[in-house]
Amino acid sequence: SLDMQLQSEKDAVASQLAAGIAHEIRNPITAIKGFLQLIMADYEGETMYFEVVEAEIARVEAILKELMVLGKPTKIKYEKLSLHVLLDQVLTLMESHALLNNIQIVKRYNLSEATVLGDEGQLKQVFINYIKNAIEAMPDGGTIFVEGLALSEGNIQIQIIDQGCGIPSDMLGRINEPFFTTKEYGTGLGMNVSSQIIEEHQGQVNIISSNDGTCIEVILSADFN
Ligand code: ADP
Ligand code: MG
Repeated sequence: SLDMQLQSEKDAVASQLAAGIAHEIRNPITAIKGFLQLIMADYEGETMYFEVVEAEIARVEAILKELMVLGKPTKIKYEKLSLHVLLDQVLTLMESHALLNNIQIVKRYNLSEATVLGDEGQLKQVFINYIKNAIEAMPDGGTIFVEGLALSEGNIQIQIIDQGCGIPSDMLGRINEPFFTTKEYGTGLGMNVSSQIIEEHQGQVNIISSNDGTCIEVILSADFN
């Protein structure tokens, strides 16, 4: 609809602007970091406060890095991908982060027959973003289920299911907006970037949530060639 069209144009402008600002902030931050390191090397007292400043600078740099990705024109490199292998690789990547947070990731997919046409890096980013959010939704630990299903209509459905805090229904409509976050140090970009990537892949994202947790469902069309 026109409304959605306008919204996505607004989102694109906001993303572009954020990326531009991030670029401008990066240089002074790099200078601050360099001089801090010089000061630290000279200083002979307690360095605890310096370390706090250094850690906070690292956090700013991480946020800037995420923001700058937004401004990049998306050049998708489509190739034939095994979703099974891709998910395995993502889970291997996320496993230690999950365990550190007392979370177990359970694989419930067998998609060895299914391939999709997609950009490997971008699709990995999508599942990393969703699993990160699932982990962050369960501060006391728990289990994340990753389900995969080849649907009869030639689609592949992947679900990331957590038993976390859930998303209040009045927020559901907003979580794909850029910069919408409920977290103290959140960027509010993970959901936005992910939904854009899936859209570019002609796929679909459905979000089902209650107090008992959240299910993020990604549907991609299978490649039969
Ligand atoms: P961030 O994680 O930096 O806050 P995201 O775009 O990844 O940004 O997510 C936006 C918001 O959507 C989160 O702040 C959170 O409120 C909500 N959200 C996303 N995924 C989940 C989930 N699995 N469980 C609960 N809330 C979620
Ligand atoms: Mg996130």
